[in-house]
Amino acid sequence: MSSWVPGAAESGFGPSHLPYGVVTTPGGHPELAVRIGDHALSLARLHDMGKLDGVVPHAVEVFDIGSLDGLLERGPDQWAAVRRRLTEIVTDPAEELMAHEAMLHLVDTTALLPWTVADYVDFYSSEHHATNVGRIFRPDADALTPNWKHLPIGYHGRAGTVVVSGTEVVRPNGQRKPPHEESPVFGPSRRLDVEVEVGFVVGAGSSQGTAVPASDFTEHVFGVVLVNDWSARDIQAWEYVPLGPFLAKSFATSVSAWVTPLEALASARVAPPAQDPTPFPYLDDPDPWALDLRLSLELERGGASAVVSRPPFATTYWTPGQQLAHLTVNGASLRTGDLYASGTVSGPEVGQRGSFLELSWGGREPLVVEGLGEVAFLEDGDVVTIRGEATAVDGGTLTLGEVVGRIRPAV
Ligand code: CA
Repeated sequence: MSSWVPGAAESGFGPSHLPYGVVTTPGGHPELAVRIGDHALSLARLHDMGKLDGVVPHAVEVFDIGSLDGLLERGPDQWAAVRRRLTEIVTDPAEELMAHEAMLHLVDTTALLPWTVADYVDFYSSEHHATNVGRIFRPDADALTPNWKHLPIGYHGRAGTVVVSGTEVVRPNGQRKPPHEESPVFGPSRRLDVEVEVGFVVGAGSSQGTAVPASDFTEHVFGVVLVNDWSARDIQAWEYVPLGPFLAKSFATSVSAWVTPLEALASARVAPPAQDPTPFPYLDDPDPWALDLRLSLELERGGASAVVSRPPFATTYWTPGQQLAHLTVNGASLRTGDLYASGTVSGPEVGQRGSFLELSWGGREPLVVEGLGEVAFLEDGDVVTIRGEATAVDGGTLTLGEVVGRIRPAV
């Protein structure tokens, strides 16, 4: 598939990708757009020109609200219809002259959070991650808790503090208890960390009281973002017993500015890892798949930068469909805009761990990174970038929207 947009195919944002975002220009309004190459193609402007007429009913409520929310709630038939029309526009040379008027250079725009995050759930579905964390936090017990292979463990996070890539993150204050002190102390976290994750954006909701099976995944889930679940390990270690993560996580969670539609990842589906024991029937997925997303974690410190890890998402034990089935099995409803994240993605190798907690083994074995020196946890001024790529439906390489964030000092 080729596009009249110069450089699009090689950019990872070619015509077979078309992720959705919301951008503004100085003095302008937020505009729903798709990314192609280093441009945002404004759906608001295309609609004004009449180029999207007849694609969906009540089109104003989809294309002119400066948010992805209007499209999300429409469901898979209308998602596909919009995508078909946009694909025509970016691939048909006859469309270039008009559509050019709707193209914005990304450098002239600011990306906003593309949708209103409704509820936010974070899982813990990487066996390698859970095993590493178990060994670090509970060295005298089994690495995996007894429930781990029976259900995808998760918790509810704070939707209101999900921020778009590029937002600076203020180091959180909180309680921590240094291991050799009698009492907890209060102050800025000293063990600020990242979690490399993949997030799923729910489009069409469901009714309360009705479970959503894994086989209905594509009826509800619209697309994928990269997620950085910033984590304060010292606050976490003191507060998490017995109810789980709370303030160690809720200060900020960063997501990509561009939401990749599931359709664009059809060629990235691979067989998931084998599961033993066999899960309950409600976790059955008749057509189970994992996503072969090749992730990377880059740290920039003091003007130097290096990729410190390459987590492979395909190794994640619980599938996205099983996560969806589990989070609704009790009758909890889905809402348009819900975000659920995979949990930290770690592979079997040292260089595939998706957090500094694991990379530095609880801070006891700092990484030595060329150009950066010894690295354990995050320092003020550090910049973290999570990237991801996958095979596109046309056989090329698709680049997921990156997630970047700089650490600001505590207040
Ligand atoms: Ca997490």
